Amino acid sequence: MNAIWKSTSAQLKKRRRNRCLLLLALVTFSFCTGLYFLWKPTSPEVSSPAVTAAVDNTTTTISSRPAEKIKDNVDDTVRVRTIQSGDNLSILFDSVKIGQTTMFQILDADESLLALDILRPGNTLTFTVDEENGKLQTLELFIHPGHRVIYRRVAEDSFEYEEVIREGQWTEQLLSGEIEGSFYLSALSAGLTEQETGNITELFDSHLNFARDIHAGDHFQVIRKQQLIDGSLTGQSYIKGVRIFARKHYYNAFLFEDGNYYDEQGESLASAFRRYPYKGKYRVSSSFNPRRLHPVTGRISPHKGVDFAMPTGTLVLATGDGEITRVKNHPFAGKYVEIRHDGRYISRYLHLSRIKVKRGQRVKRGEFIALSGNTGRSTGPHLHYELHINGRAVNPLTAKIPMAAAIPKNKLASFKSQITTDIAFMEQPRPSLPGS
Ligand SMILES: [Zn+2]
Repeated sequence: MNAIWKSTSAQLKKRRRNRCLLLLALVTFSFCTGLYFLWKPTSPEVSSPAVTAAVDNTTTTISSRPAEKIKDNVDDTVRVRTIQSGDNLSILFDSVKIGQTTMFQILDADESLLALDILRPGNTLTFTVDEENGKLQTLELFIHPGHRVIYRRVAEDSFEYEEVIREGQWTEQLLSGEIEGSFYLSALSAGLTEQETGNITELFDSHLNFARDIHAGDHFQVIRKQQLIDGSLTGQSYIKGVRIFARKHYYNAFLFEDGNYYDEQGESLASAFRRYPYKGKYRVSSSFNPRRLHPVTGRISPHKGVDFAMPTGTLVLATGDGEITRVKNHPFAGKYVEIRHDGRYISRYLHLSRIKVKRGQRVKRGEFIALSGNTGRSTGPHLHYELHINGRAVNPLTAKIPMAAAIPKNKLASFKSQITTDIAFMEQPRPSLPGS
């Protein structure tokens, strides 16, 4: 009796502990997702399809190319690998002679964080093994000095993760210039990166035609925030404010505390919906067509969405703010998610491989909700995306989309005082160049 009670109590404790861990993991995950989208990391992403395939089908792909060996300690208990383009976890674990069983235990621990699902070239993995039995004790994923994840062995067959985030300091920098040639080239020569220039172009997308509206002699100012940790730049940065003088007036974009950009009146610059439920460029493999011949059955069946051909494991993003109303596994639609955005709009994402949200959960525009896949009746890895307005499926690529909400009235004063400071910073006299 006593023994039974003890074990039940232990189970209860374990369950409680698991629930706490899950909650903690969820909180850190959403925090990081937020940071990720805000920071717009500058290093290119390499998704690891082989690992995703391994997770889904319990099979493993091991490439023949050995991961580059960087430096190992003399005693060989600490093994460091720098991630290179084309690497996946199997290659990296193989290169340090740690087995697939351990890799799956790490992936199990990473399930709610998914930090290892995207391996960025330049990040490092540090494997520390036990001197006696050669088993992996800790694995550290170093993303940048402000962001590390440590997986620690907690039992014979399991690991737990700890995420180490350091905020450091954010310095403010003014980049400005006059348009010579295109905005793109002028922005690059003012010191903006290609990605930042692309983000700015995207920001003004529905207001300014960069090819037609901007001319030589127009000018721009950009405030960039850069993260400093222990006195050195981490490579993390974001744009705080932009002014572009074109067609005889300023086009403004200022970042507010909610993570969105607004013009000087506090009106949103962004549409309420993203046009595409992912980042990057993917081919439309089948367009919206109410009278399509089904590629598998050959019968006429309406295609109520758009198919984007993309590798399994591509990040799928919510196209607008809303509530998750369905998380299902359907014999034909496969694993899918539905979001209700407000009374009038619904979006659906089909044939997913993994779903990272739960029914009832609120999501934000651009939030990571799932990984694309090839589940259900599908002829190849792709994402099927639907947008419904007033209960009717519309072509998501051409449908009229409303603008996102403006800054709420009670926050407008604080926003306006912030942009007054930003504009003063932008208008500071530029240091005269030597010899000019
Ligand atoms: Zn489709």
